[in-house]
Amino acid sequence: MSKNGDDLKVMVVEDSKVTMKALCNYLGRMGINPLTAVTGQDAIEIFRRNRPDIILLDAILPDIDGFDIAKQLRDMEKGDEWTAIIFLTSMAKDEDLARGIEVGGDDYLMKPISEVVLHAKMRAMRRLVEMQRSLVDVTQELNVANKELQRLSTTDGLTGIANRRFFDELVPREWRRCARMKQPMSLVMIDVDHFKKYNDTYGHQAGDECLKAVAAQVGRATPRASDLAARYGGEEFVLILGETTMDGAKWVANNIRQHVSDLNIPHSASSLQHVTISCGVASTIPREDQPLEALLKAADEALYMAKMQGRNSVACAE
Ligand code: GH3
Ligand code: MG
Ligand code: MG
Ligand code: MG
Repeated sequence: MSKNGDDLKVMVVEDSKVTMKALCNYLGRMGINPLTAVTGQDAIEIFRRNRPDIILLDAILPDIDGFDIAKQLRDMEKGDEWTAIIFLTSMAKDEDLARGIEVGGDDYLMKPISEVVLHAKMRAMRRLVEMQRSLVDVTQELNVANKELQRLSTTDGLTGIANRRFFDELVPREWRRCARMKQPMSLVMIDVDHFKKYNDTYGHQAGDECLKAVAAQVGRATPRASDLAARYGGEEFVLILGETTMDGAKWVANNIRQHVSDLNIPHSASSLQHVTISCGVASTIPREDQPLEALLKAADEALYMAKMQGRNSVACAE
């Protein structure tokens, strides 16, 4: 144990000078230089400041009962924290030992302390402390991995904006939220014009780059926390605009249309000679007892109208 003993923080709480001295000697031979406390108050203060891994705790102290201290220390532990508590007791009664475990002790040592038994128990506790530490590490890694998984499962791999799954999850929530607030909710359906021809002319890879550039403009258009820009599928995108009127949504859609046009991505097979989008806007004040599919359908029909108008345009549902 002496090899790694120094990374283990041990506190001894003991009011008898003789026992304290013996314990410090024994621990010293294991490579451990313990923190020491003579009273319960000291023990609590040192615990607060130093967070030891293992505490050797005298059951009978001049101020606070050792069992009460154990209870207080357990209450001070937060989340994943765990401290090994070994009671030092000269009380041989089984009920006292049971009580020590009940209030949060992990083990006990009988006085007078045997160096051999102390050594063995410290080894056992060190094992538990190490297991606890790796458990905390694994839990943290899992939390990080879960967050990343959550992010990946809601993000479109190509464009980095929200994916269809996230849209499907959010749209009914936003519908209900706007219904409760009696506020309008708008959808904007966006479709890249003549995108099949773009792929045919420039290749699929260039097509992917083009989609990324368009998605960036779509994503930029939703600064409000309740708004969402998502890739609806293929070369189609969708915006959820909560608490937004038809006029507001139309303004947002026209902005995106202009920004995409301004990118001036060459498209020789399009009559405008550069990449453009068409947008369909629909808006309603939702009612919780009504299905939201009608709003989606209206936005889709408006998009069709925008295409019929000659593309690079925004159309609104009736
Ligand atoms: P319109 O102006 O009427 O919208 O014509 P369009 O050619 O854009 O419409 P159409 O639905 O016929 O073609 C969509 C094309 O989008 C076909 C498909 O190959 C392409 N596409 C869909 N998803 C992707 C993608 O992830 N990457 C690339 N490069 N192309 C895609
Ligand atoms: Mg004592
Ligand atoms: Mg399409
Ligand atoms: Mg298209």
